[in-house]
Amino acid sequence: MSASHGSCYRCRKEVQVFGSRWCADCYYPGIDGDYDRYRDLLEEGYTRYQAKLMVGWADPPEEG
Ligand SMILES: [Zn+2]
Repeated sequence: MSASHGSCYRCRKEVQVFGSRWCADCYYPGIDGDYDRYRDLLEEGYTRYQAKLMVGWADPPEEG
């Protein structure tokens, strides 16, 4: 049996709280809603990077 609690849905690190989808570093109020939106964007054909950008999970590319 593994002692793992599962992996963070955002960064894939092990979560500290059993049953949580998010590690302490990633969690913020409203992240579940952003995750739903992220999944919707993927289904609409966006890449993971584009979807992360659109929900604020990735830094935008540097301009210039
Ligand atoms: Zn995380």
